[in-house]
Order: sequence, then structure tokens, then C-alpha cells
Amino acid sequence: MNIVLFGPPGAGKGTQAEIISEKLNIPTISTGAVLREAMKNQTPTGIKAKEYVEAGKLVPDEVVTAIIKERISFPDCSKGFILDGFPRTIPQADALEEMGVEIDVVLSIEISDGEIIKRLAARRLCEDCGTPYSVIFNPTKDNIHCDKCGGKLISRKDDDPEVIKSRLETYHSQTEPVKAYYDRKGLLQTVTSQIEVYDTTRLVFEALGIA
Ligand SMILES: [Zn+2]
Repeated sequence: MNIVLFGPPGAGKGTQAEIISEKLNIPTISTGAVLREAMKNQTPTGIKAKEYVEAGKLVPDEVVTAIIKERISFPDCSKGFILDGFPRTIPQADALEEMGVEIDVVLSIEISDGEIIKRLAARRLCEDCGTPYSVIFNPTKDNIHCDKCGGKLISRKDDDPEVIKSRLETYHSQTEPVKAYYDRKGLLQTVTSQIEVYDTTRLVFEALGIA
């Protein structure tokens, strides 16, 4: 099964990608990781991408798409793949189609912006041992100190509501057109992110028809 996965930061997309990957025994392919890998292995497309990166320029759509295409030709993708964070734009989606890459389902894990801000703003990290907590879902005894080592709990700068809002704006403005593109093709499935990972997975499997 060839899957494209969408989901805003905080929706648990990465976790669900791992679960689907294990269930179907297909790899998750994320643009960033594939780009780094191709540059490291100096594949023809990797060398091209490196020229842009080293010049401090954005890697153009056709190069990114070529790298993705190269990656999905690897034997581990024979049963399918999960594209995570790709295609990001309509030209990328078009390029994918022109290259003959067939997508079976586009799965969007959705959650309201308010809920994301609430979830991410509740995240804490132990300053000393790095254990993650949430003051809502997984609180410590006093929500000030780490239960394991007594270290002070801190928030990540990335989880600041203003930072999250701006990341969400970017996500929506980039993703909505691509989602609409796949919706017109009848490929879009949407799932609402639940509080429990297990509940989201159940909906994800249903949407993929693998329940
Ligand atoms: Zn700790």
C-alpha cells in the first residue's frame, strides 16, 4: 500500500507512521531523512541536492521529487511505503504522478489548533534526565519536579503557544491545497487524533481498511 501521511505538529503523526510501518512492514520515508541519506551516499540526485544546500538555497521540487522516487525504487518499498511530509506542494504532487508513482491513500490525521496548543503547551521535560511529561496526560507528583530524579521540569521553546501558532499557520497554508488536490482525486481519508494513541490507531487502521 502506498500511503501519503499528513498531520500537523502535535497530532501524533510520527507515532502512527511507526505503527502503520510495523503493521504493514513498509518503510516510512520522510523528505528530510531521505535528502540527508542521498547526500551522504552521494547518489546522482544527492549530489545535485548538495549543490543547493551548500549554496544555502532551497532544494527545488524536481530534485526533491527525484530523490523520493529514487528512494521508493529500493527493494524495501516493494510492498509499499509511507510518505511523511511529502508531497508538500501541488507541483511535487504533480511530479510524483508524472513519474508514475501511484498513491493508494492519503491519510490526514486531524486535530483542532486549540487542542494542539493545549497538548503542546502541557508538555514538560526534566532538565536533568530528559524524561518527558505532560501536565495533562502524564503529570508528575507536583508538576514542578521530575518523579525519577527530582530535577526541575521545563517547557521546550518549540512548545511556546506563539511558536506553535506560527508553525500551524505554515502547516495549514502548505497542506490544505495538497489535501484538496488529493480529495478531488478521491484519495483523501481523514482521521481525528484521539487522546489515546491506541484509539487513534484504531481509526487509522479503519481508514486504511486494515482493521
Ligand atoms: Zn529527571
